[in-house]
Amino acid sequence: MTGLLICAPLRIEARFVRRGLTQGDSTVLRTGYGFNRAVSCAQDLRNRRYDQLVVMGVGGGLTSGQRPGDVVVATRVGDVEVPGAALLAGELRQAGLTVHLGPVVTVDHLLMRKSERAALAETGAIAVDMESAPLVSAADGRPFAVVRAISDAPGTGFVRGGLAALRSLRVAAPAVERWAAACRSREVLLAGPRSFCAGVERAIEIVERALESRGTPVYVRKEIVHNKRVVGDLAGRGAVFVDELDQVPDGATVVFSAHGVSPAVRSEAADRGLSVIDATCPLVSKVHAEARRFASDDYTVALIGHAGHEEVEGTLGEAPSSMVLVETVEDVAKLTPRDGSKIAYLMQTTLSVDEASGMASALHERFPDVRGPGSDDICYATTNRQAAVRAIAAETDVVLVAGSGNSSNSVRLVEVCERAGTRAYLIDDASDIRLEWLADASRIGLTAGASAPPAVVTEIVAALSGLGPVSVSERVTTTESIRFGLPKEVRQ
Ligand code: SF4
Repeated sequence: MTGLLICAPLRIEARFVRRGLTQGDSTVLRTGYGFNRAVSCAQDLRNRRYDQLVVMGVGGGLTSGQRPGDVVVATRVGDVEVPGAALLAGELRQAGLTVHLGPVVTVDHLLMRKSERAALAETGAIAVDMESAPLVSAADGRPFAVVRAISDAPGTGFVRGGLAALRSLRVAAPAVERWAAACRSREVLLAGPRSFCAGVERAIEIVERALESRGTPVYVRKEIVHNKRVVGDLAGRGAVFVDELDQVPDGATVVFSAHGVSPAVRSEAADRGLSVIDATCPLVSKVHAEARRFASDDYTVALIGHAGHEEVEGTLGEAPSSMVLVETVEDVAKLTPRDGSKIAYLMQTTLSVDEASGMASALHERFPDVRGPGSDDICYATTNRQAAVRAIAAETDVVLVAGSGNSSNSVRLVEVCERAGTRAYLIDDASDIRLEWLADASRIGLTAGASAPPAVVTEIVAALSGLGPVSVSERVTTTESIRFGLPKEVRQ
């Protein structure tokens, strides 16, 4: 036999899992209740032929946030890491289940005392069972997973909880089948460069140093960079993210984000006596300076960019009466400059190089005297990451782009791939990956936007390795050595 082998300790667990299965090539094996039965069953499993092993059953919850019927996907069972856990968890969430990701501990007796559970919770485990550790030891290098539906959690009864858990096992079964269908050996092709740019590294370091030197809270106007992980980490360390300055108490420290602010925001901060640390990327500041220069020379300035983006709002604020936002070639046709011989254009730093050059060409065509920026406004990091992902897109079945949905440069990377004819998906982390994207993909491209941490890429590769052997290579189109200095407020 090959295919997916599901180990369910109890007859009733096996029955509910079988009821949920939708394909005919999975086997559900009742492995028996308790630690000793699991140990002896694991011996037999080593002689069986199968491709993937999943333990499914009910389990005891160890943390207070869990409810009967919630599902725990093990990231670790005892000392054994489960690398593909995040991918299976994402699929189970898509199936409508409430999923907790974390370590599962296997014990050799029924826990009757609360103190025993409390002691296990102290170790960091979030669920307990009596079979998983011996059973997964039989996987012997094959993809494996552990799914435990919570039957009893701290403060809940067992009987109703047991029914809720069994129903969840039935709902989980098709997701487990999809996980098994996505298992295969793969190549992962990394785009280089990818992930953090110099402006993002600088902005994060500014907040970290402000927290160290000034203590908490340090206020940050808007997201310091457009990335959920980065913002969440800094918030956990005491940074308070606000939308506007009226949410910052008088006299407090406030950091302006990497995307920059308009002069009106600067004056408001000065009027309020706020202690400002400016994390605006120097390459955004350069565009602001160009806007001021053109406006003071009586030019009408067309800013090529996306409405509503914080960088665009900040740049437009430098000379509101002289600047016009241009988002499309149609917008170029509608431009009515004060003087057709005095028109200039600038660009948001994180645009698609292809699209922006199309609009610049339209401006040159309509206004032969139009002046552009002194040097490219689309920054080196945006340009390099787009070139790098273009280089891998043609050779891969699908490209995963690590980055948040509000990250302009990350969204542009997806568009670059799509223009090259390759499917691409933007994901905050591995748990956003839909297994159906991977089912037919044996070569996966992977990159990350300039605001996405390198650790996310490492985690995604680790998660993919939970679906089978992964060989990783990198295609480097250029190397980067740019660093920006820190503002005086946070220099040692
Ligand atoms: S993407 Fe470019 S402009 Fe934005 S922070 Fe990074 S280097 Fe600066």
